[in-house]
Amino acid sequence: MHELAIAESVVRVASAHAQGGRVTAVYVRVGHLRQVVPDALTFAFALVAEGTPVADARLELEEVPIVIACRACGGAEHGLDGFPLACPACGGFDVTVVSGEELQVDSLELEHELTRSG
Ligand SMILES: [Zn+2]
Repeated sequence: MHELAIAESVVRVASAHAQGGRVTAVYVRVGHLRQVVPDALTFAFALVAEGTPVADARLELEEVPIVIACRACGGAEHGLDGFPLACPACGGFDVTVVSGEELQVDSLELEHELTRSG
């Protein structure tokens, strides 16, 4: 299950940035090319987050659309709905992916425990 591996890396990154606080929300940018099933990722995330500072955090997914640049069209950029990665203008396959491969933790919401001494 591909989403489980993604959830593990998201939880690892989020935990590393928790700085002793509790994470209340994790914002993740996922490119359309990653073919992530949001429900499956949310489910896997809840499983993996258990027992970490990320437990009970909300997973907010932002899907990044696919954009390719076509060399045959002089570098013109086109949006795509999915595979194949061919230029919708000329049908060429000599394209570069501009966006759509993202998989990154964009930001976190933290709830810091207020510890006062003295
Ligand atoms: Zn083209």
